[in-house]
Amino acid sequence: MRIFSGIQPTGSKHLGNYIGAITQYVAGQDRGEAIYCIVDLHATTVAYDAADLREKTYDTAALLLAAGLDPARCVLFRQSDVREHSELTWLLCSVTSFGDLNRMHQFKDKAGAQRELVSAGLFFYPVLQAADVLAYRAEEVPVGDDQRQHIELMRDIAGRFNARFGETLVVPEHRIPEIGARIMDLQDPERKMSTTGGTEQGTVLVLDEPERIAKKIRSAVTDSGSEVVRAPDKPGISNLIEILASVRGCSFADVEAEFADSRYGDFKQAVAEAVTAHLAPVRERYADIRADQAGLEAALALGAQKARTIAAPVLADVRLAMGVGPAL
Ligand code: ATP
Ligand code: MG
Repeated sequence: MRIFSGIQPTGSKHLGNYIGAITQYVAGQDRGEAIYCIVDLHATTVAYDAADLREKTYDTAALLLAAGLDPARCVLFRQSDVREHSELTWLLCSVTSFGDLNRMHQFKDKAGAQRELVSAGLFFYPVLQAADVLAYRAEEVPVGDDQRQHIELMRDIAGRFNARFGETLVVPEHRIPEIGARIMDLQDPERKMSTTGGTEQGTVLVLDEPERIAKKIRSAVTDSGSEVVRAPDKPGISNLIEILASVRGCSFADVEAEFADSRYGDFKQAVAEAVTAHLAPVRERYADIRADQAGLEAALALGAQKARTIAAPVLADVRLAMGVGPAL
Protein backbone atom coordinates (compact mmCIF):
# COMPACT_ATOMS: atom_id res chain seq x y z
CA MET A 1 0.00 0.00 0.00
CA ARG A 2 1.50 3.31 -1.06
CA ILE A 3 0.26 6.38 0.80
CA PHE A 4 0.84 9.99 -0.27
CA SER A 5 -0.21 13.31 1.21
CA GLY A 6 0.90 16.93 1.09
CA ILE A 7 0.73 19.73 3.61
CA GLN A 8 1.21 23.46 3.09
CA PRO A 9 4.02 25.36 4.78
CA THR A 10 1.75 28.39 5.20
CA GLY A 11 1.58 29.70 8.76
CA SER A 12 1.60 27.49 11.80
CA LYS A 13 -0.35 24.32 11.57
CA HIS A 14 -3.56 24.16 13.57
CA LEU A 15 -5.56 21.60 15.50
CA GLY A 16 -7.65 20.79 12.40
CA ASN A 17 -4.51 19.92 10.42
CA TYR A 18 -3.21 17.92 13.36
CA ILE A 19 -6.35 15.86 13.88
CA GLY A 20 -7.53 15.63 10.27
CA ALA A 21 -4.20 15.01 8.58
CA ILE A 22 -1.03 14.77 10.67
CA THR A 23 -2.33 12.04 13.01
CA GLN A 24 -3.17 9.98 9.93
CA TYR A 25 0.28 10.60 8.48
CA VAL A 26 1.91 9.20 11.59
CA ALA A 27 -0.35 6.13 11.54
CA GLY A 28 0.33 5.66 7.80
CA GLN A 29 3.95 4.81 8.55
CA ASP A 30 2.78 1.52 10.06
CA ARG A 31 0.26 0.78 7.32
CA GLY A 32 2.35 1.07 4.20
CA GLU A 33 4.96 2.93 2.20
CA ALA A 34 4.24 6.47 3.36
CA ILE A 35 5.31 9.53 1.34
CA TYR A 36 4.71 13.04 2.68
CA CYS A 37 5.46 16.28 1.00
CA ILE A 38 5.66 19.88 2.20
CA VAL A 39 4.01 21.67 -0.67
CA ASP A 40 5.90 24.93 -1.00
CA LEU A 41 4.79 25.31 -4.64
CA HIS A 42 1.15 25.26 -3.53
CA ALA A 43 1.91 28.01 -1.03
CA THR A 44 2.91 30.39 -3.85
CA THR A 45 -0.66 30.45 -5.17
CA VAL A 46 -1.74 33.13 -2.67
CA ALA A 47 0.08 36.28 -1.54
CA TYR A 48 3.22 35.29 0.42
CA ASP A 49 6.65 36.49 1.48
CA ALA A 50 9.56 34.69 -0.21
CA ALA A 51 12.02 34.61 2.72
CA ASP A 52 9.21 33.61 5.02
CA LEU A 53 8.19 30.66 2.85
CA ARG A 54 11.59 29.02 3.19
CA GLU A 55 11.48 29.42 6.98
CA LYS A 56 7.95 28.07 7.20
CA THR A 57 8.96 25.04 5.20
CA TYR A 58 11.51 24.23 7.93
CA ASP A 59 8.91 25.02 10.61
CA THR A 60 6.50 22.57 9.02
CA ALA A 61 9.16 19.88 8.61
CA ALA A 62 10.10 20.25 12.28
CA LEU A 63 6.45 20.08 13.32
CA LEU A 64 5.86 16.88 11.35
CA LEU A 65 8.94 15.26 12.88
CA ALA A 66 7.87 16.40 16.35
CA ALA A 67 4.44 14.88 15.74
CA GLY A 68 6.01 11.49 15.05
CA LEU A 69 7.07 11.25 11.42
CA ASP A 70 10.28 9.28 11.21
CA PRO A 71 12.47 9.78 8.11
CA ALA A 72 13.60 6.17 8.48
CA ARG A 73 10.01 4.92 8.13
CA CYS A 74 8.58 7.42 5.62
CA VAL A 75 9.68 9.65 2.79
CA LEU A 76 9.44 13.30 3.86
CA PHE A 77 10.47 15.97 1.36
CA ARG A 78 9.93 19.45 -0.03
CA GLN A 79 7.78 19.52 -3.14
CA SER A 80 9.92 21.95 -5.15
CA ASP A 81 12.98 19.71 -4.77
CA VAL A 82 11.38 17.11 -7.01
CA ARG A 83 10.88 18.77 -10.41
CA GLU A 84 8.70 15.92 -11.62
CA HIS A 85 5.74 17.52 -9.80
CA SER A 86 5.86 20.66 -11.96
CA GLU A 87 6.38 18.79 -15.19
CA LEU A 88 3.54 16.38 -14.52
CA THR A 89 1.25 19.30 -13.68
CA TRP A 90 1.61 20.65 -17.19
CA LEU A 91 1.22 17.24 -18.82
CA LEU A 92 -1.95 16.54 -16.80
CA CYS A 93 -3.45 19.84 -17.95
CA SER A 94 -4.16 18.11 -21.26
CA VAL A 95 -6.66 15.79 -19.57
CA THR A 96 -8.06 18.29 -17.05
CA SER A 97 -11.33 20.01 -17.81
CA PHE A 98 -11.49 23.78 -17.46
CA GLY A 99 -15.12 23.45 -16.40
CA ASP A 100 -14.16 21.10 -13.55
CA LEU A 101 -11.48 23.47 -12.26
CA ASN A 102 -14.00 26.27 -12.40
CA ARG A 103 -16.29 24.34 -10.05
CA MET A 104 -13.75 23.85 -7.24
CA HIS A 105 -15.03 25.27 -3.92
CA GLN A 106 -11.53 25.98 -2.66
CA PHE A 107 -10.76 28.15 -5.70
CA LYS A 108 -13.94 30.14 -5.23
CA ASP A 109 -13.32 30.61 -1.49
CA LYS A 110 -9.68 31.56 -1.78
CA ALA A 111 -10.10 33.69 -4.92
CA GLY A 112 -12.77 35.68 -3.10
CA ALA A 113 -10.39 36.28 -0.19
CA GLN A 114 -7.51 37.68 -2.30
CA ARG A 115 -7.10 41.43 -2.02
CA GLU A 116 -4.90 41.88 -5.07
CA LEU A 117 -4.00 39.25 -7.62
CA VAL A 118 -6.07 36.10 -8.10
CA SER A 119 -3.23 34.03 -9.56
CA ALA A 120 -3.65 31.43 -12.28
CA GLY A 121 -1.75 29.18 -9.86
CA LEU A 122 -4.71 29.27 -7.49
CA PHE A 123 -6.89 28.04 -10.34
CA PHE A 124 -4.42 25.26 -11.25
CA TYR A 125 -3.84 24.26 -7.61
CA PRO A 126 -5.84 21.00 -7.95
CA VAL A 127 -3.82 19.94 -11.02
CA LEU A 128 -0.56 20.36 -9.10
CA GLN A 129 -2.16 18.40 -6.26
CA ALA A 130 -3.14 15.64 -8.71
CA ALA A 131 0.44 15.59 -10.02
CA ASP A 132 1.78 15.27 -6.45
CA VAL A 133 -0.12 12.06 -5.88
CA LEU A 134 -0.16 10.56 -9.37
CA ALA A 135 3.64 10.93 -9.78
CA TYR A 136 3.99 8.24 -7.11
CA ARG A 137 1.20 5.93 -8.25
CA ALA A 138 -0.09 6.27 -4.69
CA GLU A 139 -3.14 4.22 -3.76
CA GLU A 140 -4.31 6.18 -0.78
CA VAL A 141 -4.41 9.87 0.14
CA PRO A 142 -5.03 10.76 3.81
CA VAL A 143 -6.69 14.20 3.94
CA GLY A 144 -9.32 16.21 5.77
CA ASP A 145 -12.89 16.47 4.52
CA ASP A 146 -12.24 19.78 2.71
CA GLN A 147 -10.10 17.94 0.15
CA ARG A 148 -12.87 15.55 -0.97
CA GLN A 149 -13.60 17.49 -4.17
CA HIS A 150 -9.93 17.79 -5.12
CA ILE A 151 -9.38 14.05 -4.71
CA GLU A 152 -12.45 13.34 -6.85
CA LEU A 153 -10.97 15.57 -9.57
CA MET A 154 -7.60 13.83 -9.23
CA ARG A 155 -9.33 10.48 -9.78
CA ASP A 156 -11.08 11.85 -12.90
CA ILE A 157 -7.76 13.15 -14.22
CA ALA A 158 -6.04 9.78 -13.70
CA GLY A 159 -8.98 7.90 -15.24
CA ARG A 160 -9.10 10.21 -18.26
CA PHE A 161 -5.34 9.92 -18.73
CA ASN A 162 -5.52 6.12 -18.73
CA ALA A 163 -8.49 6.10 -21.12
CA ARG A 164 -6.79 8.50 -23.53
CA PHE A 165 -3.16 7.28 -23.40
CA GLY A 166 -3.35 3.72 -22.00
CA GLU A 167 -3.09 2.35 -18.42
CA THR A 168 -0.31 4.41 -16.88
CA LEU A 169 -1.50 6.01 -13.65
CA VAL A 170 -3.05 4.63 -10.47
CA VAL A 171 -6.49 6.03 -9.55
CA PRO A 172 -6.09 6.81 -5.82
CA GLU A 173 -8.63 6.59 -2.98
CA HIS A 174 -9.03 9.25 -0.35
CA ARG A 175 -8.73 8.37 3.32
CA ILE A 176 -10.83 10.75 5.36
CA PRO A 177 -11.08 9.98 9.10
CA GLU A 178 -14.55 9.22 10.48
CA ILE A 179 -14.01 11.52 13.42
CA GLY A 180 -12.10 14.79 13.13
CA ALA A 181 -12.15 15.24 9.36
CA ARG A 182 -13.59 18.73 9.65
CA ILE A 183 -12.68 20.65 12.79
CA MET A 184 -14.47 23.99 12.83
CA ASP A 185 -13.26 27.46 13.81
CA LEU A 186 -13.98 27.93 17.53
CA GLN A 187 -15.28 31.45 16.96
CA ASP A 188 -17.17 30.68 13.77
CA PRO A 189 -18.22 27.02 13.95
CA GLU A 190 -19.93 27.15 10.55
CA ARG A 191 -16.47 27.47 8.92
CA LYS A 192 -13.58 25.03 9.00
CA MET A 193 -10.56 25.88 11.12
CA SER A 194 -8.14 27.20 8.51
CA THR A 195 -4.63 28.54 8.10
CA THR A 196 -5.51 31.34 5.74
CA GLY A 197 -9.15 32.10 6.33
CA GLY A 198 -9.97 31.61 10.02
CA THR A 199 -10.26 33.84 13.07
CA GLU A 200 -7.21 34.13 15.30
CA GLN A 201 -9.03 33.33 18.55
CA GLY A 202 -10.90 30.46 16.91
CA THR A 203 -7.78 28.73 15.59
CA VAL A 204 -5.81 26.55 18.01
CA LEU A 205 -2.22 26.30 16.82
CA VAL A 206 -0.28 23.14 17.60
CA LEU A 207 2.56 25.31 18.92
CA ASP A 208 0.42 27.69 20.98
CA GLU A 209 1.37 27.87 24.66
CA PRO A 210 -0.88 25.62 26.76
CA GLU A 211 -2.50 28.57 28.52
CA ARG A 212 -3.33 30.18 25.19
CA ILE A 213 -4.89 26.97 23.91
CA ALA A 214 -6.97 26.65 27.06
CA LYS A 215 -8.15 30.24 26.74
CA LYS A 216 -9.18 29.80 23.11
CA ILE A 217 -11.17 26.68 23.96
CA ARG A 218 -12.79 28.21 27.04
CA SER A 219 -13.92 31.17 24.94
CA ALA A 220 -15.25 29.03 22.08
CA VAL A 221 -18.63 30.16 20.81
CA THR A 222 -21.30 27.82 22.11
CA ASP A 223 -24.96 27.59 21.41
CA SER A 224 -28.04 28.39 23.39
CA GLY A 225 -29.23 25.47 25.49
CA SER A 226 -27.21 23.62 28.08
CA GLU A 227 -26.90 20.01 26.98
CA VAL A 228 -23.61 18.55 25.77
CA VAL A 229 -25.00 16.74 22.71
CA ARG A 230 -24.34 16.88 19.01
CA ALA A 231 -27.08 18.50 16.94
CA PRO A 232 -27.36 20.47 13.69
CA ASP A 233 -28.41 23.59 15.61
CA LYS A 234 -25.47 23.22 18.01
CA PRO A 235 -22.41 23.63 15.77
CA GLY A 236 -20.20 25.01 18.56
CA ILE A 237 -20.82 22.18 21.05
CA SER A 238 -20.80 19.57 18.27
CA ASN A 239 -17.35 20.79 17.25
CA LEU A 240 -16.00 20.57 20.80
CA ILE A 241 -17.42 17.05 21.14
CA GLU A 242 -15.69 16.10 17.89
CA ILE A 243 -12.40 17.57 19.12
CA LEU A 244 -12.56 15.68 22.41
CA ALA A 245 -13.53 12.41 20.73
CA SER A 246 -10.61 12.76 18.27
CA VAL A 247 -8.07 13.58 20.94
CA ARG A 248 -9.20 10.74 23.20
CA GLY A 249 -9.82 8.27 20.40
CA CYS A 250 -13.34 7.56 21.66
CA SER A 251 -16.83 7.87 20.15
CA PHE A 252 -19.22 10.85 20.22
CA ALA A 253 -21.57 8.78 22.37
CA ASP A 254 -18.82 8.24 24.96
CA VAL A 255 -18.30 11.99 25.24
CA GLU A 256 -22.03 12.72 25.42
CA ALA A 257 -22.52 10.09 28.12
CA GLU A 258 -19.63 11.35 30.22
CA PHE A 259 -20.85 14.96 30.12
CA ALA A 260 -24.60 14.29 30.30
CA ASP A 261 -24.90 16.13 33.61
CA SER A 262 -22.21 18.74 32.98
CA ARG A 263 -22.52 22.40 32.22
CA TYR A 264 -20.89 23.95 29.16
CA GLY A 265 -18.19 25.56 31.30
CA ASP A 266 -17.05 22.27 32.84
CA PHE A 267 -17.16 20.53 29.50
CA LYS A 268 -15.04 23.23 27.86
CA GLN A 269 -12.54 22.97 30.71
CA ALA A 270 -12.25 19.22 30.10
CA VAL A 271 -11.73 19.77 26.36
CA ALA A 272 -9.08 22.41 27.10
CA GLU A 273 -7.19 20.04 29.40
CA ALA A 274 -7.34 17.14 26.96
CA VAL A 275 -6.12 19.24 24.02
CA THR A 276 -3.27 20.90 25.90
CA ALA A 277 -2.10 17.52 27.23
CA HIS A 278 -2.34 16.04 23.74
CA LEU A 279 -0.26 18.77 22.09
CA ALA A 280 2.28 19.44 24.86
CA PRO A 281 4.75 16.68 23.87
CA VAL A 282 4.75 17.86 20.25
CA ARG A 283 5.52 21.42 21.31
CA GLU A 284 8.33 20.21 23.57
CA ARG A 285 10.00 18.12 20.88
CA TYR A 286 9.55 20.87 18.28
CA ALA A 287 11.94 23.35 19.89
CA ASP A 288 14.95 21.01 19.67
CA ILE A 289 14.18 19.74 16.20
CA ARG A 290 13.62 23.22 14.75
CA ALA A 291 16.90 24.49 16.24
CA ASP A 292 18.88 22.13 14.01
CA GLN A 293 18.13 23.67 10.62
CA ALA A 294 21.07 21.95 8.93
CA GLY A 295 19.72 18.62 10.15
CA LEU A 296 16.28 19.46 8.78
CA GLU A 297 17.72 20.42 5.41
CA ALA A 298 19.69 17.18 5.28
CA ALA A 299 16.57 15.14 6.11
CA LEU A 300 14.54 16.92 3.40
CA ALA A 301 17.32 16.46 0.82
CA LEU A 302 17.50 12.76 1.55
CA GLY A 303 13.71 12.53 1.31
CA ALA A 304 13.77 14.28 -2.08
CA GLN A 305 16.35 11.83 -3.34
CA LYS A 306 14.15 8.90 -2.37
CA ALA A 307 11.06 10.57 -3.82
CA ARG A 308 12.78 11.20 -7.14
CA THR A 309 13.66 7.54 -7.58
CA ILE A 310 9.92 6.77 -7.47
CA ALA A 311 8.61 9.73 -9.48
CA ALA A 312 11.18 9.80 -12.30
CA PRO A 313 10.21 6.43 -13.86
CA VAL A 314 6.51 7.37 -13.63
CA LEU A 315 7.23 10.59 -15.52
CA ALA A 316 9.17 8.63 -18.13
CA ASP A 317 6.10 6.42 -18.64
CA VAL A 318 3.81 9.45 -18.86
CA ARG A 319 6.00 11.17 -21.45
CA LEU A 320 6.25 8.01 -23.51
CA ALA A 321 2.48 7.43 -23.40
CA MET A 322 1.79 11.04 -24.41
CA GLY A 323 4.23 11.13 -27.30
CA VAL A 324 6.29 13.82 -25.62
CA GLY A 325 10.07 13.67 -26.15
CA PRO A 326 12.05 11.00 -27.97
CA ALA A 327 11.12 7.31 -28.13
CA LEU A 328 13.13 5.25 -25.69
P1 ATP B 1 -5.66 26.69 3.96
O1 ATP B 1 -6.83 27.10 4.77
O2 ATP B 1 -4.72 27.78 3.59
O3 ATP B 1 -6.00 25.80 2.78
P2 ATP B 1 -5.29 24.49 5.65
O4 ATP B 1 -5.55 24.88 7.05
O5 ATP B 1 -6.37 23.81 4.88
O6 ATP B 1 -4.79 25.78 4.89
P3 ATP B 1 -3.46 22.65 4.44
O7 ATP B 1 -2.00 22.55 4.56
O8 ATP B 1 -4.07 23.12 3.15
O9 ATP B 1 -3.98 23.60 5.62
O10 ATP B 1 -4.10 21.27 4.80
C1 ATP B 1 -3.34 20.16 5.29
C2 ATP B 1 -4.28 19.03 5.62
O11 ATP B 1 -5.10 19.39 6.75
C3 ATP B 1 -5.24 18.66 4.50
O12 ATP B 1 -5.30 17.25 4.42
C4 ATP B 1 -6.56 19.21 4.95
O13 ATP B 1 -7.65 18.47 4.43
C5 ATP B 1 -6.45 19.07 6.45
N1 ATP B 1 -7.30 20.07 7.15
C6 ATP B 1 -7.27 21.40 6.95
N2 ATP B 1 -8.15 22.03 7.73
C7 ATP B 1 -8.78 21.05 8.46
C8 ATP B 1 -9.80 21.06 9.46
N3 ATP B 1 -10.35 22.19 9.85
N4 ATP B 1 -10.18 19.88 10.00
C9 ATP B 1 -9.62 18.71 9.59
N5 ATP B 1 -8.66 18.63 8.64
C10 ATP B 1 -8.23 19.79 8.07
MG1 MG C 1 -6.14 23.64 2.73
